[in-house]
Amino acid sequence: MAIDRFGRNIHYLRISLTDHCNLRCIYCMPEDQTFRPNAELMQDDEITQLTHLFASLGFDKIRLTGGEPTVRANVVEIVREIAATPGIKSVSMTTNGILLKRLAGPLKQAGLQRVNISIDTLDPQKFHRLTRWGKLEQVWEGILEAERVGLAPVKLNAVVVKGYNEEDVIDLAALTIDRPWQMRYIEMMPFAGVTDVQTQQIVTAAQIQAKIESEFGPLEPTGKYDGEARIYRIKGGRGELGFISSVTVPFCSACTRARLTADGVLRMCLLREKEIDLLTPLRAGASLENLRQLILDAVWNKPWGHGLEEGYIPLNRAMNQIGG
Ligand code: SAM
Ligand code: SF4
Repeated sequence: MAIDRFGRNIHYLRISLTDHCNLRCIYCMPEDQTFRPNAELMQDDEITQLTHLFASLGFDKIRLTGGEPTVRANVVEIVREIAATPGIKSVSMTTNGILLKRLAGPLKQAGLQRVNISIDTLDPQKFHRLTRWGKLEQVWEGILEAERVGLAPVKLNAVVVKGYNEEDVIDLAALTIDRPWQMRYIEMMPFAGVTDVQTQQIVTAAQIQAKIESEFGPLEPTGKYDGEARIYRIKGGRGELGFISSVTVPFCSACTRARLTADGVLRMCLLREKEIDLLTPLRAGASLENLRQLILDAVWNKPWGHGLEEGYIPLNRAMNQIGG
């Protein structure tokens, strides 16, 4: 087991498969973002080796992310390898859904259990404005295919941005009246690249909830948390609503996560700059014991929490270079 100095059992690893993406969401990266050459990213066998190493330390839950994980070559094979790793109990993915119509079936067969699909609005024009390049219809088809092949329960993520989609939280919530889906609203967090948008156009979880309640009446608390999301229901609805208030009400005390960036660097807090390079020693032939010790030391020193309230903003990477 990997335990940090505050007694938290760190067993959930988010692996970013690439920093590349087929969209350019305004809250994630600038339109002219440059990406790492493939040689700098973990190769398929390096992802496998590191996954085995983390699993041997008690990590049992993996989420694949990016950039956009589905644009990574061999993504289906990578999922198959990870799902077959002894000790790994759950493999999920966060995706923009653009390529899911084609990939949902093969990913499910390879051992993927669930997907979280990002969809910030149901209005095609607004979707294009937010993602700069995206076609809403492709995401919608991806969501339906994910549900059809059993990547369930379907969970949807929306980042809410002032001046872009704060009115749209209502239509998104209405999806859960007839469908057993979970709609999750995420407070925008600040990183490098587009820090101004991220700090000046934030809509808080409380504001999002108030907007939804102005339409549907008081939401019913379920008393449940799903990861970092507080879960509610619209009265009589089949699905759920989740609120992720990472900025205004952080959940750091319950955090069990570590993140492995696409260039093989371990980041123990999404919102802290400190990182531990694992890929360079792996490529230099470090022993498994040395690598294990690097991970255990990093876990031990996991920061207690982020420092957004004190004005600390991590500026060494944009969001797509970390993975969310
Ligand atoms: N490309 C995939 C996607 O968009 O779902 C996976 C990577 S993306 C970086 C992971 C999640 O982070 C998505 O749900 C995305 O909406 C969210 N995200 C991106 N930028 C964010 C920001 N500044 N604050 C909060 N969430 C953000
Ligand atoms: Fe790409 Fe996801 Fe970032 Fe949007 S949020 S630009 S889909 S990585």
